[in-house]
Amino acid sequence: MSSVIKLLSPRLANQIAAGEVVERPASVIKELLENSIDAGSSRLDIEADEGGVKLMRVRDNGVGIDKDDLPLALSRHATSKIYELDDLEAVATLGFRGEALASISSVSRLVISSNQTEQPSAGWSARSEGRDMETELMPAPHPRGTTVEVRDLFFNTPARRKFLRTEKTEFGRLEDVVKRLALSHFDVAFSLTHNNRPVHSWRAANTRIEQERRVGQICGSAFMENALYVEVERAGLKLWGWVALPAFSRSQADLQHFYVNGRAIKDKLVTHAVRQAYQDVLFHGRHPAYVLYLELDPATVDVNVHPTKHEVRFRDSRLVHDFLFRTLHHALADVRPQDQLEKNE
Ligand code: ADP
Ligand code: MG
Repeated sequence: MSSVIKLLSPRLANQIAAGEVVERPASVIKELLENSIDAGSSRLDIEADEGGVKLMRVRDNGVGIDKDDLPLALSRHATSKIYELDDLEAVATLGFRGEALASISSVSRLVISSNQTEQPSAGWSARSEGRDMETELMPAPHPRGTTVEVRDLFFNTPARRKFLRTEKTEFGRLEDVVKRLALSHFDVAFSLTHNNRPVHSWRAANTRIEQERRVGQICGSAFMENALYVEVERAGLKLWGWVALPAFSRSQADLQHFYVNGRAIKDKLVTHAVRQAYQDVLFHGRHPAYVLYLELDPATVDVNVHPTKHEVRFRDSRLVHDFLFRTLHHALADVRPQDQLEKNE
């Protein structure tokens, strides 16, 4: 008889976890940007080379990470965002599983540099090496904030690399992630560079006019010109944002952004409520366009449904559905008669 059960090496365990959340460059960028936003950054600079496969670098000006915490930031199940199960009930940050950096660093060459002080020389950088993923720390000048650099994604997991598409496709998805986050964090400035070519640069947008400018830059000026601004608050629920007039309907459901407490979600209940509100103003087979933000008590919504966190579960889904439907139906009511006329012509 011989014993055959062995513990997985830390790297292998992390690579397996990475299978769930790290699908492509876009998923890496999503995790890095969410971390930067959770760190209270007001400016994010994103660089990518070759669709992000060769290089992704995110630099922020957030709170930074203490030298002693850097190794922890790279280990699995280490997070500064929740401490006990109860915290999950009211999680307000975007991340909370404490596995993104560990996962990403197991399938790429990742270096994290950070500094919590105003003294640039006080910065440190860390990387995890080998099958035990031991952390190597080095002094590294860095302004206050954090830079995460991810090179050669999937260099050690060829099977995963095979699923990557063309540079153009991968960059497109990465860009979509940046846009989705830029739409929900108006107070943060963003810049995006691809192969050293500036692609986007959005200043912090603090007034409605500035926000509308950003939405127009991201969703197109035609959307903005045909959009109604909505803002309604009732019974602890708040909905605000822009909905396109029926005249700006789409042949595909490709311009639908919905955020719950700042988190982009795709949810059947939400889609259904919005659809229903547009029902008698849209032609069959056309899709509404919208950028909407729902805000509610974090304790009444469960975001811990899936690792990629696109789904949510509302405690009172009937109430949320009704509120969305009524609010949008009412907003579109003013345009309804005129639209009926057009249809009858
Ligand atoms: P999670 O975000 O789920 O906590 P991560 O693996 O993404 O897990 O990050 C681990 C920890 O590293 C975070 O909880 C946070 O304390 C720290 N961290 C990661 N990125 C940053 C950043 N850009 N700025 C400050 N702290 C960060
Ligand atoms: Mg995270």
